Amino acid sequence: MKIHINGKLVPKEQAVISVFDHGLLYGDGVFEGIRVYGGKVFLLEEHLKRLYEGARAIRLEIPVSQPELATAVEETVEANSLQDGYIRLVITRGAGSLGLDIRRTSDPQVIIIADTISLYPPELYEQGLKLITASTIRNHPQALSPQVKSLNYLNNILAKIEGTDADCLEALMMNHKGEVAECTGDNIFIVKNGVLKTPPTDAGILEGITRAAVIQLAKQAGLDVREVTLTRHDIYSADECFLTGSAAEVIAAVSLDGRQIGDGKPGPITKDLKKRFEALTRGE
Ligand code: PMP
Repeated sequence: MKIHINGKLVPKEQAVISVFDHGLLYGDGVFEGIRVYGGKVFLLEEHLKRLYEGARAIRLEIPVSQPELATAVEETVEANSLQDGYIRLVITRGAGSLGLDIRRTSDPQVIIIADTISLYPPELYEQGLKLITASTIRNHPQALSPQVKSLNYLNNILAKIEGTDADCLEALMMNHKGEVAECTGDNIFIVKNGVLKTPPTDAGILEGITRAAVIQLAKQAGLDVREVTLTRHDIYSADECFLTGSAAEVIAAVSLDGRQIGDGKPGPITKDLKKRFEALTRGE
């Protein structure tokens, strides 16, 4: 496997960073997870836009331009002969002192890993996922905006632990107001009386690239799509529920906190949108 690090493609054993890197010491950096389908990088521009915006929000200057980074991503896919897989793009603040002052850091690290991805087990795409509500809330937007896909994912990891402890592979996270935000690594949608609903950005969520693609597909399919505040009651009483993410794609959620959602099976609108998403990504 070849890793792209700071402008060079090197064998993975040689792709190393300093133990003084603020990415390691403080989770100081940003990242992206991007899919490759049939050798083509899916929605690369959208991912890069989010990456550069997040970097700007945390005062991290990415040392290469967006077009240069796009080329580097393509080169990494090609060097690894990747047909279907997953790209992890990581930008760290670089090595500094054992203190928070970013003025003492130098050399932000630009790392591109092209690998495979394991989605949820295939049977769960047929049956749907069980969810619980995590007691860990999503980051308060005034502490660290969830719109920044930062290297500090601890609050999501803590919520994920709550999920896996309860035998659920995803967990629902609320925001500081007690409204539905998103799951630990996926955005959430419900269907109620034929209307597709998802929390708005100001619920304190990562604005998912898959979320945006699914909203567009749903509108093209003639569905009424609304970005509205959702409560847990809305999910308990929904006709259908599904999650979206680059790794997960589109997957039904069939229960929350032991309450069955709809008839407890992936619903017709979920299945239709899943099919449309597969057609978009794989031309099926
Ligand atoms: N929310 C969170 C917290 C995420 O980490 C992710 C990405 N794994 C998503 C939503 C989905 O975003 P995308 O569709 O851009 O992968």
